[in-house]
Amino acid sequence: MVVADKPDLITPPDGPPAALRLWRPTIYDVKTGRARCSDRIQVMLYMHLAPQALPAYAGTRPAGCVVYNGSKVDILPQAVDQKFIEAFEYFLGVIAGPEPAWKVPSRHECRFCDIARTECPERIEG
Ligand code: SF4
Repeated sequence: MVVADKPDLITPPDGPPAALRLWRPTIYDVKTGRARCSDRIQVMLYMHLAPQALPAYAGTRPAGCVVYNGSKVDILPQAVDQKFIEAFEYFLGVIAGPEPAWKVPSRHECRFCDIARTECPERIEG
């Protein structure tokens, strides 16, 4: 399974390589509209995956920041803890597993879903 996305900005490295252990990148994502929990989770996924996917950030433990029009939400590196990582891996397994995930249809969820009723008879419309 490939997880693909791209943050808006990662602060560049500074200082000599010896200081890399102490260097803490910050991953920024800029959003329009009101603050949502999913924005924070998205940045936390970047914080977890960037050190694994990008050699320039290997061995670092990034901080995060969601930037809105007129405000920002800082995310400490500690937010990406073992519980978060286990939940991420659990849901990767749900998505990539051989069994289809449970459907939990609701007017709110189905409204934002592109799957047509022909493919999902449980779809709630209207
Ligand atoms: S249309 Fe089907 S798959 Fe999409 S959110 Fe609704 S129940 Fe889930």
